[in-house]
Amino acid sequence: MRAALADARLAERGQRLPVRAATLDEMGRVHTPAYLDGLTKRVPGNSGWLDPDTYYSPGSWQAVEDAAGAAVDLTRAVLDGRVTRGLAVVRPPGHHAEADRAMGFCLVNNIAVAAAAARDAGASRVAILDWDVHHGNGTQHIFEADPAVMYLSCHQYPFYPGSGSPREIGVGEGTGCTVNVALAAGAGDPDYRAVMQAVFAPALRRFRPDLVLLSAGFDAHAADPLAAMQVDRAGYRALSEMLVGLADELCGGRLVAVLEGGYDLDGLAGGVVELFDAMDAPGVAPDADVDPEALLESIAPSARAAIQSTLAAHSEVKA
Ligand SMILES: [Zn+2]
Repeated sequence: MRAALADARLAERGQRLPVRAATLDEMGRVHTPAYLDGLTKRVPGNSGWLDPDTYYSPGSWQAVEDAAGAAVDLTRAVLDGRVTRGLAVVRPPGHHAEADRAMGFCLVNNIAVAAAAARDAGASRVAILDWDVHHGNGTQHIFEADPAVMYLSCHQYPFYPGSGSPREIGVGEGTGCTVNVALAAGAGDPDYRAVMQAVFAPALRRFRPDLVLLSAGFDAHAADPLAAMQVDRAGYRALSEMLVGLADELCGGRLVAVLEGGYDLDGLAGGVVELFDAMDAPGVAPDADVDPEALLESIAPSARAAIQSTLAAHSEVKA
């Protein structure tokens, strides 16, 4: 992974921002005081388990604080105009972490901390797109009642963590601002591109975000040992170009990607490099005039059904 990033000269291209630990106040915008208090008493310098998947070791707390801090500072740099877009190459991931508990390798929800920092810095509307193969239950739950934060996820379903049905569309004032595409195992590049074109692009165009955040997991890669999707390196490039194009069209290019999962190291590295390369070039926004019927005819029936379920759930909101 490190070698692939070095070969792609990531460190020499663009601007490298310093990393610092997130403060408890920053993390406390999305996590409960009791949860953070428990973590800071238990995790620093120690080893153990917070749930059946989520372990920690003596270096974990520093990594957790730095991951969230990097996401916050990159977001601030983008909102200030110091950089247009960027990628926080951090671990542990964050999107399964709930307001009050660790889950699925995640202790602090980095992308949620970044979205809250963006709102605190004056962004009116923040969109979080999550293409990690797992549903980002924590991110969804933290913002599901908030009409200022749109959460869009496509994920293998049914699968860990169990949430992410297309019927989950948000709560109260946030109704319509949660968008889930529940793809069957085996979905590949054309299916993911169709999700972007038929679901995410129109939703983002309606929402008109000031900033787009990406939960950049690469575990939908065909070689990933934890999941069963078929996205390849070219697929991640195409998705990245579309997302950069949408950010260019909607919010001055402002895009902050934060690493999530990805457990085949070659697949992970390839996806990260393709995302970085796409961020370093003009984007290719999905065609706004695409005929959805023709598009859906061109993909696998299971993916077509998944997209139609999402569109149906959201058409009831608008009606
Ligand atoms: Zn994942």
